[in-house]
Amino acid sequence: MEKVKVLIVGSGPAGFTAAIYTSRANLSPVLYEGIEPGGQLTTTTEIENFPGYPEGITGTLMMEDLRKQALRFGADVRRGIITDIDLSKRPFKAIVDHEHEIEADAVIVATGASAKYLGLESEAKYRGMGVSACATCDGFFYRKKDVAVVGGGDTACEEATYLASICRKVYLIVRKNYLRASKAMQERVFNTPNIEVLFEHNTKEVLGDEEGVTGVRVVSTAGEERDLPIMGFFLAIGHHPNVEVFKGQLELDEQGYIKVQPGTSKTSVEGVFAAGDVKDPHYRQAITAAGSGCIAALDCERWLLAQ
Ligand code: NDP
Repeated sequence: MEKVKVLIVGSGPAGFTAAIYTSRANLSPVLYEGIEPGGQLTTTTEIENFPGYPEGITGTLMMEDLRKQALRFGADVRRGIITDIDLSKRPFKAIVDHEHEIEADAVIVATGASAKYLGLESEAKYRGMGVSACATCDGFFYRKKDVAVVGGGDTACEEATYLASICRKVYLIVRKNYLRASKAMQERVFNTPNIEVLFEHNTKEVLGDEEGVTGVRVVSTAGEERDLPIMGFFLAIGHHPNVEVFKGQLELDEQGYIKVQPGTSKTSVEGVFAAGDVKDPHYRQAITAAGSGCIAALDCERWLLAQ
């Protein structure tokens, strides 16, 4: 059976940063890219807020660069999905694509989180062309334009308030007759004049043309339909951390994110470290994911040295 020192699961900024650091530390990491090579950033367009890129960079290009950088130091980057893993004893044993077995002294979990979408065909069609699940990433492209945000939680309220500072008008589409967000967040929304909250409304269809989104058709619970002319359609209906294979093995928090010891990447299993969105329900940024990939690599390196 193949045996490696460090197995990295996931290929977003957290996974690749962990690969860069562990390969430079001569730990010969093997990284499996997972279902979505390059992670969530490959679904965004331009990234303007990652330090070091004054002109911005596309998500795809940034991930290609991170991949190349990891390869340059000898990381073994492979296509494949970890379909099963046993973390009950060391060395840990993982199964790749249901067939290949691999043993690892240490594991860095960087499987990320996925934004939830409504599941409409039109929403999928305009993804990256006006449909986005990250206002911090994409809001700037809609400055002085009208946009809509779906959701009634803290994220939706936070994103609506952020967008309101850039955009002309923000519709907040809420399916219930109340916001689930904290009171403070609700007040911010209600006190922002260019946010219009549409309670008891659902999205029927995202409207658009070859250039991208041009509007959204909403329907009230009373059955009234209305088209809102918007250019940006933001989903804020939650994320789900990608933890399926680790369930029952790593301690998770009440929202399903991997629990780590505060200030570290150490999970409930010694020798298993977590980095990026899979352990972070709050910040979810490329730069914070990369930072936590570095932390995981250093924690992992020090732990291996102490063994
Ligand atoms: P939440 O699960 O709290 O909220 C999701 C929202 O989306 C709810 O209003 C929900 O509606 C709505 N929703 C879900 N599915 C659909 C759908 N199919 N159609 C329409 N609406 C839908 O997720 P958040 O991302 O907002 O927050 C996650 C966690 O992170 C929370 O604990 C939150 O408090 C925390 N957080 C804290 C922040 C802060 O403190 N600054 C900032 C951001 C998040 P319904 O209410 O009807 O279920």
